[in-house]
Amino acid sequence: MRKVLIIGGGPAGCSAAHLLSEIDNLDITLIETSSKLGAGVRTQYYGGHPYTFGPRHFLTQNKKVFDYINKIIPMRNCSEHEFISYVESDDSFYNFPIHMDDVRSMPDSEIILKEIKEAKGVANARNIEDFWIGSVGQTLYNKIINEYNKKMWQVDDNKLIDTFKWSPKGATIKDGPRAAWDIAISAYPYAKNGYDDYFDMVFKKVNVKINTKIEKFDIKNKTIFVNNEKFQYDIIINTISPDTLFENCYGELPFIGRDLFTIVFPTEYVFPENVYFIYYPNKEKFTRMVEYKKFTRHKSKHSLVGLEIPSMNGKHYPMPIKSEQIRAKKYHDLMPENVYSIGRAGTYRYLVDIDDCIEQAMQISENIKNNEFDGPIPLKRWREFN
Ligand SMILES: Cc1cc2nc3c(=O)[nH]c(=O)nc-3n(C[C@H](O)[C@H](O)[C@H](O)COP(=O)(O)OP(=O)(O)OC[C@H]3O[C@@H](n4cnc5c(N)ncnc54)[C@H](O)[C@@H]3O)c2cc1C
Repeated sequence: MRKVLIIGGGPAGCSAAHLLSEIDNLDITLIETSSKLGAGVRTQYYGGHPYTFGPRHFLTQNKKVFDYINKIIPMRNCSEHEFISYVESDDSFYNFPIHMDDVRSMPDSEIILKEIKEAKGVANARNIEDFWIGSVGQTLYNKIINEYNKKMWQVDDNKLIDTFKWSPKGATIKDGPRAAWDIAISAYPYAKNGYDDYFDMVFKKVNVKINTKIEKFDIKNKTIFVNNEKFQYDIIINTISPDTLFENCYGELPFIGRDLFTIVFPTEYVFPENVYFIYYPNKEKFTRMVEYKKFTRHKSKHSLVGLEIPSMNGKHYPMPIKSEQIRAKKYHDLMPENVYSIGRAGTYRYLVDIDDCIEQAMQISENIKNNEFDGPIPLKRWREFN
């Protein structure tokens, strides 16, 4: 019997617990500091309206991942979803991400189209500002990217963000309104309590310790201390920031957090039909709003909207800065064989969403089943620096 420890009970830790529980001869323990599993993806309620911390929309290009989750918690197709941005300088709403029809309708379309034609490309881009200006020109960058990125990453200058291939929405202008989305499966659980049943099933599958604090880590020896007691494992799957496992010996990895405000409006719907999110790329402090009932289909005369403000509260967004990515790699390099690090904080990659957590858990469970160790971050796509 091999003893396995999973650190953290968010989507990555819970997916690992589900998948590893299918493998014979593993004795699995999951440790979570809070009182519930699922972290920000867990459903909460305000005035009876179900919501999560931010949208937590299931968007994937991986059919295997979708089929897996859909079998356990049936998912509703949301492919009609539309995202829009409010651009204050034009007092207009455009699609998000932007596409050529929007550009043609802008008051300064002539200059923008000229800049797009003459854009020098991204081959020599050193930071996210070069990357976007090289893709779409200065005017469009100023309109929709500059302020949004600065508030998203809490920086005064976008030149500080020197990795940029992570942008999940892509820096290119799309050809039509659906071009960004038609390649992905867009879904959300049918159940009123969203993803919760998926998380709570973990209690039946493995030994779960909630409200539990790990006092000390000795990762080299795959050992942890809880209540002054020592526990040793054969395999560890970590889903929290890797600096925590090594007493920040190379310094603390920075993250951007979020404050979420929930607001009930006195109308059945607030956003136009099919609009799930609105992005705000101007001087306002918030980045995004989501109308939850578009996902949850909650029936009510009122509608709940979540408003996200970037802050330093919580370890939600690993910084896309090369020096910090290198620092994270130094921590990953300290991890011995049979210690894996998955999930958004665990890999220290922004480009890890719910579907990616599942995909990573699938990969490591394959490795564990086959007794293969492919490095602490198992998939090439996440191991690369970008
Ligand atoms: C506001 C917001 C909106 C998002 N919207 C979407 C979306 O629409 N679609 C999408 O696919 N993705 C979305 N994401 C991203 C996605 O939800 C995350 O990538 C995913 O939840 C990461 O899961 P995880 O298990 O890696 O980490 P987490 O969800 O952070 O879970 C980590 C867990 O570890 C626990 N923990 C922390 N420290 C310790 C410790 N020392 N010991 C034990 N346990 C510990 C935490 O309490 C937590 O439960 C969003 C993220 C945010 C922040």
